[in-house]
Amino acid sequence: MRDLRVVVIGAGMAGILAGIKLQQAGITDVTIYEKADKIGGTWRENTYPGLTCDVPSHHYTYTFERNPDWSRYMSPGPEIQAYFEDTTKKYGIEKLIRFNTKISRADFKHGQWHLQTSAGDIDIADIVIAATGVLHHPSFPKMAGIDAFEGAIFHSSRWDHSVPLEGKRVGVIGMGSTGVQIISALAGKAARVEHFVRNPQWIMPVDNGYFSEEERAAFRDDPDLLAQVMDVETYTSNVEGFTEALTHPDSEVAAFWRKSCLDNLENNVCDPQLKEQLRPDHEPMCKRLIFSADYYEAIQHPDAHLVRQDIECIEAKGIRTQDGELHQLDVIALATGFRADQFMRPMEIVGRDGTDLETLWAKRPVAYLAISMPDFPNFFMLNGPNGPVGNFSLIDIAEHQWQYIEQLIDKLRRGECEAICPTPQAMEDFDAERVEAAKKTIWYTGGCQSWYLDAEGIPASWPWNYSRFVAEMSAPNLEHFELC
Ligand code: NAP
Repeated sequence: MRDLRVVVIGAGMAGILAGIKLQQAGITDVTIYEKADKIGGTWRENTYPGLTCDVPSHHYTYTFERNPDWSRYMSPGPEIQAYFEDTTKKYGIEKLIRFNTKISRADFKHGQWHLQTSAGDIDIADIVIAATGVLHHPSFPKMAGIDAFEGAIFHSSRWDHSVPLEGKRVGVIGMGSTGVQIISALAGKAARVEHFVRNPQWIMPVDNGYFSEEERAAFRDDPDLLAQVMDVETYTSNVEGFTEALTHPDSEVAAFWRKSCLDNLENNVCDPQLKEQLRPDHEPMCKRLIFSADYYEAIQHPDAHLVRQDIECIEAKGIRTQDGELHQLDVIALATGFRADQFMRPMEIVGRDGTDLETLWAKRPVAYLAISMPDFPNFFMLNGPNGPVGNFSLIDIAEHQWQYIEQLIDKLRRGECEAICPTPQAMEDFDAERVEAAKKTIWYTGGCQSWYLDAEGIPASWPWNYSRFVAEMSAPNLEHFELC
């Protein structure tokens, strides 16, 4: 076996996974670069009130590190961050991480990657794993007067906890999963919450129950019981059904999801005017589906108020809507989402023969099977472009991707080749097939704008069923790779 040096970029969920798996495979010359001073990625950055993972906790868990101690069916953010911190410690990954260090540039020269760090060093590696996350560049709305606001204003992923909320008037802009969770947490706690919604979204009801101390003790003592509550088979079949609904909008399963969202609105919002204001004008699942146990109840709280008027501007005292009304506020939270097309950028990445990432991604981010790109040898991505992102566990997705990447790394370790990357033809064929399939999904046909769409309006996410993804990730088709 050749000794290889591996650099992982990012110490979030996927970077930690890579660190653990590399160690387990006996690859010890590994550095994980992390721009922040602690691990966690999205779970470190997002700390807003009500932060919860809307994927069942027992499935938002590494398969090799099950957690009997989840407090709820879908657990709060701080518990998830603690889980990643505990796992990092338990597997001895901290020693691999260089905190507070960004990679600003990566060049493939003389068969190796030369990585420039923010500390001014050059690190030379045989393999690079980009585990930089999908939703981490905040999207700040361009609103006139935003700097004039006299109160506190911040993006949901940069929550300022020094700002008190009790007794305050809080405005939340945006009705994605984030805005919904914030409103649910603050209604009845702040003096008044105003939810500024440009386009309402469909909401799937969910029962987010607690696991009692007795249940958790029983899961700790009895792995069979834990396996029973996880019920991997049912979860997998639900994910398959969900992806069937996304990719086949005329299917029976899609009708089930549509009806569930519609019934939720019809049965849980009393006031007919409010019900119409909350009724989306697109198909359910066109935008990433929101799961919430309590948003409709929260927005009907006497101290909560839905604002469907478009925003004219922000002023010193609050938000002025286009009907001329000034909504006086003390705090504004921008739950306005993320720039989902950035991935590793703004890092500059230059592959073989000077091919740079910006040129390859000039039209849109692309990658063969979401993992690798022609002319970028030995460079692999976890949760890269065109992979499955949606209402299911990204940990599960990253583990499947790792299984695939590991097989390519094995070829390098065994000396079967020194460089491996997909052929341009494989990349082109994959992307053409992907774009055709993407046009049949509900993200494209459902009549909405969302972060799933690229600059040309083509859905960027994996456009096939979960089972196809699992099958593709089981083993690389080496005919699609250049090994040299
Ligand atoms: P998002 O889904 O992109 O929603 C952004 C919201 O902000 C939309 O309602 C959008 O309105 C609104 N908005 C953006 N710019 C605006 C403007 N200039 N004026 C008025 N409204 C504006 O963002 P997100 O809620 O942060 O969620 C992003 C993703 O993060 C989710 O889809 C999910 O994948 C992930 N997430 C997951 C969880 C979880 O529990 N697992 C929780 C939170 C987030 P329009 O619809 O009109 O564009």
